[in-house]
Amino acid sequence: MAKKDYKKLEKELTIQKKNCWDVWSESIKKKSFQFAEDYKKFLNVCKTERETVKEAIKIARKNGFKDISEVKGLKPGSKVYFNQQNKSLILARIGKKSLLEGLRIVMSHIDSNHLDLKVNPLYEDEGMAFFKTHYYGGIKKYQWPTIALALHGIVYLENGKEVEIEIGEKENEPIFMVTDLLPHLDRSGGPGGEIKKREVQGEDLNLVVGSIPVKDEKVKEKIKLAILEYLNKEYGMKEEDFSSAELQAVPSEKARDLGFDRSLISAYGHDDRICAYSSIQSFLDAKNIDQTQLCIMVDREEIGSEGATGAQSIFIESFVAHILELSEQEEKISNVYKIFSKSKAISSDVTAAIDPDYKDVHDPRNAHRIGYGVAMEKYTGAGGKYSTSEASGRFVQELRIVLKKNKNIIYQLGGGLGKVDMGGGGTIAKYLANRNMDVVDMGVAMLNMHAPLEIASKADLYCAYLAYKEFYNN
Ligand code: MN
Ligand code: MN
Repeated sequence: MAKKDYKKLEKELTIQKKNCWDVWSESIKKKSFQFAEDYKKFLNVCKTERETVKEAIKIARKNGFKDISEVKGLKPGSKVYFNQQNKSLILARIGKKSLLEGLRIVMSHIDSNHLDLKVNPLYEDEGMAFFKTHYYGGIKKYQWPTIALALHGIVYLENGKEVEIEIGEKENEPIFMVTDLLPHLDRSGGPGGEIKKREVQGEDLNLVVGSIPVKDEKVKEKIKLAILEYLNKEYGMKEEDFSSAELQAVPSEKARDLGFDRSLISAYGHDDRICAYSSIQSFLDAKNIDQTQLCIMVDREEIGSEGATGAQSIFIESFVAHILELSEQEEKISNVYKIFSKSKAISSDVTAAIDPDYKDVHDPRNAHRIGYGVAMEKYTGAGGKYSTSEASGRFVQELRIVLKKNKNIIYQLGGGLGKVDMGGGGTIAKYLANRNMDVVDMGVAMLNMHAPLEIASKADLYCAYLAYKEFYNN
């Protein structure tokens, strides 16, 4: 009797974890590098949700998409977008099949952690002027002092006008900074004691914005007034205008290649613009338009998806009703629900990759790795699966079959961020699941998530693009 070939059986029966760089041909590697070049340019002009909406609309219009308010009717092949308050965006391509047969959706978020200016931010103290901030999203506060920050946003002025502000991005522009305590004064037990690193509090995240006073003995807060004088001259602002401003401090650093081999990208806002960018590109490149396809990008994921521009908002229902109406079908809510029940969605968001310095927080058998392809996260949540959105086994089966169609799509399977009872996290998946549709999380595994600079692999970025495209096409 011939000896059984267990090596072969092993290959057949066990999961073969693959590193993209090991298995890809030179030409695919090259394509992934080219793809990353455009992604870096995208990141550098998209540091806020507003800027991302603006840029995505620019890309969409270049590809023949029209604002839904400009069209009279929709038919198969029609391409439209819907801009939700300049903070969230839906791109749609109408399919040949009836809308009532459901939609194909890839949905990402385009807000990233940052520091918002408070309602009354400006003050002076000890010879300097500052802006008070309120951090947005889950940050480790100690990571934000001593880095170069830029200010981005919009101010709605008392005179009815609005003014956009972007300062701190160009080489010749000033930047802003949160200060930190010097190690000499941050020791326990006096000189020679251990450096403690005093915990940075929320109220410590104040931006230095100037230090030259106006020359007038009668004025009490001279530096503060000098800053207001500048803001008034430059932007027409008065102090009260801060209350109707949406200004955020974001890292000024540009997206850059990381490592000798340039395989990784360091950038602010990979979470989640890496999935937004790859989903836009896959959406534009997908060929099959049997079913109506949506590429949705939402705001406010980092703070719970609440509010008019978040994933829980009914602007999504309104949009579906609107395309029903424009397709000359009854736009009643039961039809919207029927469409949702037949829709399939990918929540395209990032997840954690194992960091060799902090392996202990992961269950390595169910965690993701840098360079090992697009990461499918069967479920999110924390503890005993609280706040969990979990894809059905049947939907995961369907997606595995789809992903296998292109041998260049390398994917990894996991679930539950970090060790049980230790980690946890959520995405927008549950808000799609609550709408009664099939949804799973699939995106890029990364390092330094939520830090001012995050790290992602060009291979995983390209795999995400290929995977979303295959999903749209099937
Ligand atoms: Mn995210
Ligand atoms: Mn996040």
